[in-house]
Order: sequence, then C-alpha cells, then structure tokens
Amino acid sequence: DDIFGSERKNSKGMNLNIISQSAPFLTAIKQFSTTQWQAGPLVNGNTLTGEQHTVHSPFDTRLTVGNIAFADDKAIELAMSSAQQAFPRWCNTPVTVRAASLYKLADLLESHREELIALCTREAGKSIQDGIDEVREAVDFCRYYAVQATKMMDKPELLPGPTGELNELFVQGRGMFVCISPWNFPLAIFLGQVTAALAAGNTVIAKPAEQTCLVGYRAVQLAHEAGIPTDVLQFLPGSGATVGAAITKDERIAGVCFTGSTGTAKLINRTLANREGAIIPLIAETGGQNAMIVDSTAQPEQVVNDIVDSSFTSAGQRCSALRVLYVQEDIADRVIELMKGAMEQLSIGDPSQVKTDVGPVIDASAQANLNAHIDHICQVGKLINKVELPQAALNGHFVAPTAVAIDSIKVLSQEHFGPILHVIRYKASQLNHVIDEINSTGFGLTLGVHSRNEGHAINLVNRVNVGNAYINRNQIGAVVGVQPFGGQGLSGTGAKAGGPMYLTRFVTEKTRTNNI
Ligand code: GLU
Repeated sequence: DDIFGSERKNSKGMNLNIISQSAPFLTAIKQFSTTQWQAGPLVNGNTLTGEQHTVHSPFDTRLTVGNIAFADDKAIELAMSSAQQAFPRWCNTPVTVRAASLYKLADLLESHREELIALCTREAGKSIQDGIDEVREAVDFCRYYAVQATKMMDKPELLPGPTGELNELFVQGRGMFVCISPWNFPLAIFLGQVTAALAAGNTVIAKPAEQTCLVGYRAVQLAHEAGIPTDVLQFLPGSGATVGAAITKDERIAGVCFTGSTGTAKLINRTLANREGAIIPLIAETGGQNAMIVDSTAQPEQVVNDIVDSSFTSAGQRCSALRVLYVQEDIADRVIELMKGAMEQLSIGDPSQVKTDVGPVIDASAQANLNAHIDHICQVGKLINKVELPQAALNGHFVAPTAVAIDSIKVLSQEHFGPILHVIRYKASQLNHVIDEINSTGFGLTLGVHSRNEGHAINLVNRVNVGNAYINRNQIGAVVGVQPFGGQGLSGTGAKAGGPMYLTRFVTEKTRTNNI
C-alpha cells in the first residue's frame, strides 16, 4: 500500500495511434514550440545570474531553446552552506511529510507534461514517444521512492534483547548529497536521483548534465512548488570540470549519486578518496557493452523488431541499448536481411514530429566521435547497412543508424553511445566462447536473449554477468518497480534504480539500546 492507503500504480502512458487521445495532446505540446526558457542556478529558491550560454537544439543548431547561466563559485558556496544547514531540519521532518511532497511533485509533473515533453524534444532531441516515457518514469520515481522511504523509515525496527532492554534500529538521511545526472534522461534520471536522496532525508545539490540544464531547472522549480524547501534542494548547472569538480571535492558532502560514463565515475571515486572528510558512498550507474544472443530456435521476424528497437530507439543513446548482436550462423543471413529492411523503415528527423523514430545525437562532439567510430569499424569489419540521412537532418547532430559485421567484441575498446550496432555470427559449438567474450568486457548492464528453448535461455542469463537480462523481447525501457535497473562491474556500483534496495544506499543506520 502507498502512503495514502491505496496501492501505488505506475503512471499511465498514451497510445499515439489513438488520434482522439493524441491530437489534443500534440496541440498542447506545439504551444511550446517557440518558447525560450531562461534558467540559471537555483539557490535558496532564487535564480542567480552567471556566465550565460545559449541553448541550441541538437535537431537544428540554428534554433535556440533558451539561455542558461552557469553557477559560479559564489553560487556554489551559498548552495552548499545552505543545504548543509538545512539538513538536520529535513532529516527530522517525518518521512510521511517528505513523501507527500514527492506525491505532489508527481502530480505537478503530470500537469506540466506537455511543456516537459516539448523541452525534452527541443533541448535533448528526444522523440515525442521518448518524451512521454521520460515524464512517466520521472513520475514513477517520485511515487515509488516516496512509498519505499515510508516503508523503510516510518517506524524503527524492533530487535530482540534481554528483558528490560529495548533495542531499535533506525535509518536516517546521511547529510548533503550530490546528484550528478546525464543528458540522455534529463528529467527521469535527474529526478530519480534527487527524489531518492530527498525521500531518504538528505538535502541535495543537483547538477544536471551541462547539455540539458533547462529541463533540470524546470524540474527543480516544480519540486519547490510541490513543497520541497528551497534550501533543501539546490540546483547548480555547469560543466563537470568546474561545478562537478567543486562539489565532489567538498568535504561537507555525505554521498554522491552519479549516472554517466565509467571514466567519470572513476574520476569522482578518486576525488572522494583524496578529499578531506569522511569516507562516503558513491552510487554510480555507468555504461555498457550490451549484447543480445539469438539462437537458431528464435523466430527471425520477432527478433528483428527487438534488435532495431533496442539498438536505434533514442538514437542508441541509452546505457541499456544493444551494441553487439550475436546471431547463430544457421539463421544469421535471414535475420540480417530482415534487419536491413527494418532499418530502412526507420523515420529519421525532427523529433517533434510524432512519426520520427530516430532523432539527433546530443551534440557536435558526440556526432564527430560516433562518425569516426563508424569509419574506423568499417575498416576493421564489414558494413552491413548505413541508413541514408534525410535532408531534414542536415542542420543537426545526426548520425546514420548503422550496422557493421565484426569478428569479435574485442575490437571494441569502449562503449559507443549512439545508433551503431555490431553484429557477430557464432556457431552452436562456440557458445561458451560467446559467453566468455561478453564477460571479458568487464561491463555488465543489459543482456538480450532470443530463444524458444527456455532452459537454454535461462542458462545463458545465469552465466553472463549483467544487471538486467531480457528474454524474447527488447532490452531497453526498464520500468520503475517492475525491472529495477542497474549493472555490475564497469557498469556501476548498484543499487538498482527503481528497485527496493536503492534507498538503502542513501541512508545511515542507528541502533538505539535503551535500558529502560
Ligand atoms: N533505464 C533506461 C532503460 O532501461 C536506461 C537508463 C540509461 O540510459 O541510463 O532504457
């Protein structure tokens, strides 16, 4: 049961094909098609000025979305000292009060859904469908962590002891938490981190990815409107090298929650180790070198939908996305042929158009790196298909959905965060080798398996080191409370976002023994 006595349900979606539902909704989104959002550091509820940056749309860099002021040293210091001071008050606020604010925030996100989707589309280049899913996930995180925190923190756990002695175990917030989020889920992951930390009784310094500060700013404004005190949640936009570095080396912080690259997670880990002050937790969710294994019992027509969806949705910019497809020799020709056809059906272009499947990648540097990888990997392997980009894509940061045949996962030295799929054929006798190869990357985020032999599929899932395994479906789009999400090894520290253990990383425990 949730805090209001009814069962928590995930937010409802929308079927864009039902015109009577989608038409008014799309008209409402269009109202924001020329809005220019103005944002900056939100410190104690005041929007501060700072170095100004114009935000250009990744879909068409001639279009502007608004302006963002980055936080300077003064803003950082004021935000941190205020959040630090606010901690005892917030920590001692009953968890049900904190949870009620998060429920209110979920309602506000739903009532501002159209604006938030427009912003995700224009600032992050997300498709409309991705925007819908993004808001839903953010809403689900708010309610889920509200419920989990209430379960965990409302009453102490009574422990056994000798007569006359009362033993109780409490959990409480740790202090001031730093939350650093990525641009690929500028609302859902941003708020997932923040709401977890807040629900557990921490105050929060939120640093959005520098590419998606406008979405983060609106989210924090709504959180304040929902009743999260302005000193408890502070917003510091800026680059990792300046703001990120300053807030992670500060000795006053009590924990860091980070989603992004493995390299940056390690850098933060070193910063935390080298700074003065306590040893504090780092909750990191990082990249993947995600594989799908398709055996000869799989149905090629079914498999192809899931391959294309897992590889090219969100322009491949999900840490869960499929990067390396292992397809058994016996059906490889058929699967590859069908896949080429399905890739040609992808609609690429303006993310604010409902029909668009694949929008731009986030910025010029991502585009250049991905294109360089395509050039390189086509030399090492053999091009299977590269979809031609339409005219409409020429002014934006687009990368052509591409599939390339390679011999071994070992030719990939890192994760390539975009619409590029690598394909490896294997023979039944090589299956052990396939498993070893996947495990040898050191990553362990998602795995897809397609097989009609259930025992075989489960055996594969048991042997590959991953956090999320999906049998006979796509391998993206984990749902809060349904598929708790997160990996192992180079893919992150755990605990899983949207899962029952997540909040345990945000709290400290206290045992009270009372010899009455
Ligand atoms: N949870 C998302 C999914 O399953 C991926 C999150 C990420 O890209 O960081 O698709």
